[in-house]
Amino acid sequence: MHRRKLYFVAALTVLMIVGFMATSLTSYFVARESLSENISEQMLPLTSDNIYSEIQRDLLRPILISSLMATDTFLHDWVINGEEDTQLVRNYLREIQQQYGTITSFFVSDATRNYYHPDGIIKTVSADNPDDAWYFRVRSQREPYEINVDVDTADRSRLSIFINYRVEDGRGNFLGVTGVGLAVSAVTSLIETYQLRYGRDIYFIDREGNVALTQDLSGPAQRIQDRPGLGPLATQILTTPSASLTYERNPGETVYLNSRLVPEFDWYLMVEEHDSAAEERIENTLLINIGLSLGIMTLVLLVAHFTLKAYQGRLEEMATTDRLTGAANRHVFDGIFDNVQRSARRNGRPVAIACIDIDHFKEVNDTFGHQAGDMVIRAVADVIRQHARASDTLCRWGGEEFLLLLDGCTAEEAAERAETIRKAVKKQSVVFGREDIRVTLSCGVAQYHPGEELFSLIARVDAVLYRAKHEGRDRVSVAT
Ligand code: GH3
Ligand code: MG
Ligand code: MG
Repeated sequence: MHRRKLYFVAALTVLMIVGFMATSLTSYFVARESLSENISEQMLPLTSDNIYSEIQRDLLRPILISSLMATDTFLHDWVINGEEDTQLVRNYLREIQQQYGTITSFFVSDATRNYYHPDGIIKTVSADNPDDAWYFRVRSQREPYEINVDVDTADRSRLSIFINYRVEDGRGNFLGVTGVGLAVSAVTSLIETYQLRYGRDIYFIDREGNVALTQDLSGPAQRIQDRPGLGPLATQILTTPSASLTYERNPGETVYLNSRLVPEFDWYLMVEEHDSAAEERIENTLLINIGLSLGIMTLVLLVAHFTLKAYQGRLEEMATTDRLTGAANRHVFDGIFDNVQRSARRNGRPVAIACIDIDHFKEVNDTFGHQAGDMVIRAVADVIRQHARASDTLCRWGGEEFLLLLDGCTAEEAAERAETIRKAVKKQSVVFGREDIRVTLSCGVAQYHPGEELFSLIARVDAVLYRAKHEGRDRVSVAT
């Protein structure tokens, strides 16, 4: 019984663990799946769209200004007229700078190679000077402009973003390069604003994968090809106009990435999200789920334990007691007798038994019916118990026959008690409908002889009971 209970509890535990784990983990993975889908297919592209339109607003303005400068007829005429009055172009450039709030504005003439600035001619660009490489790059390119992050020629301590716009006359002849410069700090703080607003990492890379612009430009210049986890994806990113990808930056740290080409800059806008708070929430939910499951499991196991215990108790009681009278049944009498007899022998106490049989019980059954008979048996058992001591054991031996085991009694003492019982039963009447049923008892008493077998003791007590019956019933006989 105990082993079965253990098996049952173990099976229940395993089933519950499997069940709870299956549901918790399934919902965890489903939630994570839909979260990563949500991040890579909706949230990041949306952020990218928003940033893209903000960049257009914030960064395309200088491109527009530069484009206006490149097509300005004043500039064209001034160059064609031989770049005579430098003051005129200085005023023009200063006006642009003041009107649009750029940090610098410039024009480099292809005819003279002079670098014009609001403060005057700063230098002459030369193909031999690596600092001037940008000019010759723009000079030979087909696209109308480029964006370049470079040190400012007018202030070498300052990093600026230049819009370098080709100036051509009406017939397409190259006249020079003009444009404006913006402080990088203004753009990086723009990126920082986006990062704070959208809670994501934002940076730009050029067509080769070099990080062109990021919040912290002072950090080591990096190529995405060299970034952990991102390297293998570089080709994919640089060959498509937009991509949604995930990669592992560090083991277990998934980064969601959205890239998109910004054709005006010829740069890729990269928006990354990692260590998402939502992911943490999902993990917390999993932990809460597991905690709740453990709680429920403990409750179920406790309920199962107490139910089984009560059930087991009932079964044991049913197996050892007689249903009708509540007395011990014949199967357990052996064990009880053994215990009593052993302890009595240790302490030198006598032990006696009384065999009690209802007289002419068949007539009760025949006259009043079996149900009435049952009532009488129960009533007799109650009377016997009332007059027995707590230490005496009552056992229903057969149909209407009881054995009373009297610990610590000699035959005489047991006979006295049996006599009391006999008288009490004789006085009592059992009410059955309108009938009063009265019965008498015959009783045989014997004292246990140390070393004697139980069957021999019972045989002796049976014999004296038979004698009592024979001598006229309603009496107690004692074995000598
Ligand atoms: P005696 O004085 O010689 O004992 O006569 P008796 O009629 O009591 O004879 P006996 O002990 O042989 O009869 C027992 C009867 O008790 C037989 C049976 O029908 C009846 N009996 C046995 N068990 C039950 C029971 O659980 N309920 C009822 N109602 N009757 C039972
Ligand atoms: Mg009888
Ligand atoms: Mg009998």
